[in-house]
Amino acid sequence: MGSISLQKVAKHFGPLKVIPSIDLEINDGEFVVFVGPSGCGKSTLLRLIAGLEDVSSGKIVIDGKDATYAPPSQRGLAMVFQSYALYPHMSVRSNIAFPLKMAGMAKEEIDRKVNDAARVLNLTDYLDRKPRQLSGGQRQRVAIGRAIVRQPSAFLFDEPLSNLDAALRVNMRLEISELHQTLKTTMIYVTHDQVEAMTMADKIVVLNRGHIEQVGSPLELYRKPANLFVASFIGSPK
Ligand code: ADP
Ligand code: MG
Repeated sequence: MGSISLQKVAKHFGPLKVIPSIDLEINDGEFVVFVGPSGCGKSTLLRLIAGLEDVSSGKIVIDGKDATYAPPSQRGLAMVFQSYALYPHMSVRSNIAFPLKMAGMAKEEIDRKVNDAARVLNLTDYLDRKPRQLSGGQRQRVAIGRAIVRQPSAFLFDEPLSNLDAALRVNMRLEISELHQTLKTTMIYVTHDQVEAMTMADKIVVLNRGHIEQVGSPLELYRKPANLFVASFIGSPK
């Protein structure tokens, strides 16, 4: 569970070829970071994988099954949005439980899953609060909790920390890395921040104008950047 294969995936918006053609293999359990400058197509690529946008051409295979035109709910993936995607009128418990209620799960099972997720995320003492009574970092953890209860085969994060201040960002980075070590679930993490990419990734995918410039571990990219773009973006001495 958790392998994702992109085969000649392309996305056009009218005449704009945002993603001309991308091939990429993501293995089960990997922490993969999509990094690149603003406007290079990171969010678009993530949304194609999530099924929030349809590909213009090409194929998306998830866990060995052709998912190119599967609706988002049938892909087994969970997209973690920024903290403002919480429901303000609902408690933390109800926010985390929401996707399970929608799926019609029994109350006892929902309670058990919510309590388990809260424990992993250190939210047990906050389950009865409303989002506005939480810090930015806690809100972000609630958003992650809402993804965890669905036991997805992969988590997709789109710049989840960009609303947080610098100190909190460092903290949340560590928490997400720890979560990956605990759950061992595939994670795809989009950021324009090189430091985030270098510190969190098993595998970095460097994007530029809808193309992949290089795929590799942080060390590989640092030691052997494929070209000047990667070298200057990663900050390695080429
Ligand atoms: P990133 O997340 O790397 O900043 P995006 O994937 O959001 O980049 O956008 C890549 C390019 O695609 C940008 O030029 C953006 O304006 C364009 N784009 C994204 N979504 C749409 C859309 N729905 N319609 C038209 N152009 C879009
Ligand atoms: Mg984006």
